[in-house]
Parts: sequence; structure tokens; C-alpha cells
Amino acid sequence: MKSHRKELWFQVPSRRALLNITPQVEEAVRASGVTEGLALVNAMHITASVFINDDESGLHQDFEDWLERLAPEKPYSQYRHNGAEDNADAHLKRTIMGREVVVAITGGRLDLGPWEQIFYGEFDGKRRKRALVKIIGE
Ligand code: ZN
Repeated sequence: MKSHRKELWFQVPSRRALLNITPQVEEAVRASGVTEGLALVNAMHITASVFINDDESGLHQDFEDWLERLAPEKPYSQYRHNGAEDNADAHLKRTIMGREVVVAITGGRLDLGPWEQIFYGEFDGKRRKRALVKIIGE
């Protein structure tokens, strides 16, 4: 069995953003040499997510609006977690949007559905953060 590990680093200039990281994950699959196996992609921070959905700008704004209704960033004082930090909303948003995805690798390619794309969801940006890609298979 082969295995391959890669960290993807990000520095998002805003507090929140959704980044399509499918090309970087595909590149990691190519570099791994794995043709049949699995790719795990997970955020390595408790205020960021990795999830799969459609790369459509209207939907991305819908996610932003929906998450802000569920866990509004402000006022910071509404959260017990805040004080030394102001990112309670980011912890909650991360939990809703998920930590990781697992994608099958078939014939050396990510075996995604027709509209599936892999996203890094940043909810507390403006600093260097990362996601882990772990690939196993043959
Ligand atoms: Zn925190």
C-alpha cells in the first residue's frame, strides 16, 4: 500500500472565505501515484472546515447568510467563549460545515459526482492555517 501526506496552507485576507481546493487535492493524488484508494482532506483548525458542494457564487453567499443567521459573528459579547478571543462564531460555523471529507480515487482521479467540488471554509482568517491531505491506496 502507498501513502502520501501533504499540507495545504492558506492565508485568507478576510475573516471568512470559501476556497475551492479541488485542484490542489487532485495534484496531491497525482503526486501520490495512487490509482485506486482514498483521499482524506481535513481542516487542521477548529475554526475552519473542509466540505464538498457546488462551486456556485450564489450558493456561497447563501452559505454565508445561513451561517450568519445560525451563529452571527457579532455582537461578540453574546458568546461565553469570547473574551480573550472573538471567534466563538467560527467554532460553531466549523462544526456545522464539517471537519473533513473522504473521496474515492479511481483510475488515478478523484471520483467526484458531476457537481462536487472540495472546499476549504475559512471562518476566522487573516492568519496562516492549513488543511491535511492524506492519500492511501495502491
Ligand atoms: Zn476560539
